Amino acid sequence: MDTNKLIETLKDVRLDELKIEPEKIKAYEIMSITDIEVLKALCRYIESFKKLSLPEVWPAGEGRQSILGLMDYLNKYLSDLNVHKCYCVGFKYLEADIFNQSDDGFVDILESSEVIGESVKYECKCNGCSKILEVTHSLDSTGGDSYVWRQKSD
Ligand SMILES: [Zn+2]
Repeated sequence: MDTNKLIETLKDVRLDELKIEPEKIKAYEIMSITDIEVLKALCRYIESFKKLSLPEVWPAGEGRQSILGLMDYLNKYLSDLNVHKCYCVGFKYLEADIFNQSDDGFVDILESSEVIGESVKYECKCNGCSKILEVTHSLDSTGGDSYVWRQKSD
């Protein structure tokens, strides 16, 4: 079950249980899903995904520790998603590029931006849930763009 297949399956609301093939789970692709109906369906099967954090699900070996770390990350995302059912939850986990999200119409960048040292802080509004999000854009030690997202407390 690749991510497209997973999305198709999630749209089938008659399903009682989600059969997951662990080796086909691509955590970052799941966090990138933007279809609100699919995201809500993901939350219904949160227990099925929790099993992916069990060591015995994965073959023993060098790679297991990093897979488990990734599955913990995915489950953290899913529990956040379960609280706030919107695609913008994923932006924090993906450290998504605010400008790409704006170009794609997922968020609107608001006027206020603030330069703090080497960083620029933006405010944007999610077009899915209307929440205001704060994004700090800076360059990491290798000169790559870094985007830290957080929900603005109101
Ligand atoms: Zn949102």
